[in-house]
Amino acid sequence: WDCNTLEKASSLIHSRPTPILLPNYVAGELSLPSSTSTSFINSYEPKTGALLCRIPCAQPDDVEDAIRHARDAFPSWSKTTRAERSAHLRRVSELLQEHRELFAVWESIDQGKTLERARIEVDRAISNFSYFSTYILHEQTAARVIDGVALTYEHRSPAGVFALISPWNMPLYLLTWKIAPCLAFGCTAVAKPSEVTSMSAYLLGILFRKAGLPAGVINIVLGDGPTTGASLVASSAIDGVSFTGGTQTGIAIRRATAHQIRKHLSLELGGKNPNLVFADSMDPAVRDRTIRIAASAAFENQGEICLCGSRIYVERAAYPEFVRAFTEYVAKTYVLRTTVGAVASEQHYNKIRSYLELAVEEKATFHLGSVPPQLGVNGAQGYWIAPTILSDVAPDSRLQKDEIFGPVVTISPFDDEEEAVRLANESEYGLAAVLLTTDGARMRRVGEQIEAGLVWVNCWLVRELGTPFGGMKNSGTGREGGEYSRDVFTVVRTLHLPA
Ligand code: NAD
Repeated sequence: WDCNTLEKASSLIHSRPTPILLPNYVAGELSLPSSTSTSFINSYEPKTGALLCRIPCAQPDDVEDAIRHARDAFPSWSKTTRAERSAHLRRVSELLQEHRELFAVWESIDQGKTLERARIEVDRAISNFSYFSTYILHEQTAARVIDGVALTYEHRSPAGVFALISPWNMPLYLLTWKIAPCLAFGCTAVAKPSEVTSMSAYLLGILFRKAGLPAGVINIVLGDGPTTGASLVASSAIDGVSFTGGTQTGIAIRRATAHQIRKHLSLELGGKNPNLVFADSMDPAVRDRTIRIAASAAFENQGEICLCGSRIYVERAAYPEFVRAFTEYVAKTYVLRTTVGAVASEQHYNKIRSYLELAVEEKATFHLGSVPPQLGVNGAQGYWIAPTILSDVAPDSRLQKDEIFGPVVTISPFDDEEEAVRLANESEYGLAAVLLTTDGARMRRVGEQIEAGLVWVNCWLVRELGTPFGGMKNSGTGREGGEYSRDVFTVVRTLHLPA
């Protein structure tokens, strides 16, 4: 594979071969899989609809080969000191910082997101490595004396070789959110990005090589879910799976690993997040902030963030005013292709479009958006969907229940706090929620009743990497972040010594 430097990857931006053939990163080398039965998957550029890359679909023997390299690397990597692993991670974060624009431009081309949004995500990927590089230097475990007769302490060791699997909505950010803690806590891994967006994983392979990470510590195989992903999670040589993606895939992974009790499972799954707007938050002093938060929670990254608030509930007294001001703000702010990107793939475009057709069928009111859902210039190519605001949607409509994962929101009224909480919790999912109110007592009273792993009050997407991240109900099991990631990637034994 000759396109193995970041400089060459950079030149591809301007003089693209059609299509670009992406390699795996296994045992420290970029190469195409050796399996004779390898098939290739086409990946298209969302903003134009043009063919962008061809991705080898790693077969079970290719996957086993990558796992073997990760296993071979485990004994020595797991014995490195925390300071050594920290230095490796710091080097990766510095290199990522140095090549920030290259990663951002490619991420924007490959995923469809705006360049501005891609830059934010590269910065967060840099933080993933820098955060865990320092976290491991400062973590401590407590020793306890029991009744003066025994001293007990927790001894943690790396849990082994992990499968790290990520989706297409924030490809670089979510893959590094797994790779950084996995390596920091002394595990090795085989990572698999989504077949829809593999470009940043290919760039990461080049970067890991340049950073001098020992061969085999992190391997990246490209491919689809049913072949590559399924053989990776099911392998008996894998000790744990950290997965981010859809709930149905999470169920398939749980089923495939049900007999392997020892396998650590962290599942970060889908959501259909509520956003509760109380009338006090439309007070003139805070009204603009309320509208801004609700709009970015709905339409940031074209609504393709698992944490987006796509069910907006508004207290009836403020309902007409909210619908008017929200629609006006979104129409003004999210209309240009610099503020909203294209959705990730043709398949996803068709899925979102089918929900808009359902909205027409069910006679929902379109305050913004239409069918066909074009954004910008008429007849433009690519998978563009205009921000869509719907009301008059029945509570049991699939528009209110299913995760559409695009720039589509529903707005519905509520009469009191009790109804607001009931509507918010009327979902199989429990990932995130936004609460907009100026009433301090209500923030806690309502916030503590919402069935969601993350509740943001008068803000959205504020993250500190040590806080627990994860969902309730069908949005997942396990938490990641800081010490919670440590729980995923380590095994703990408790030692009892005589006092
Ligand atoms: P997906 O579940 O279809 O795919 C995710 C990844 O799993 C891909 O890499 C895919 O190839 C792989 N995969 C598919 N089938 C597999 C199998 N049987 N075994 C192993 N791997 C398999 O999800 P998607 O469409 O790529 O992403 C969108 C979903 O991700 C949405 O539901 C969204 O809410 C969710 N998501 C969740 C979070 C979170 O933190 N909770 C964050 C981002 C996205």
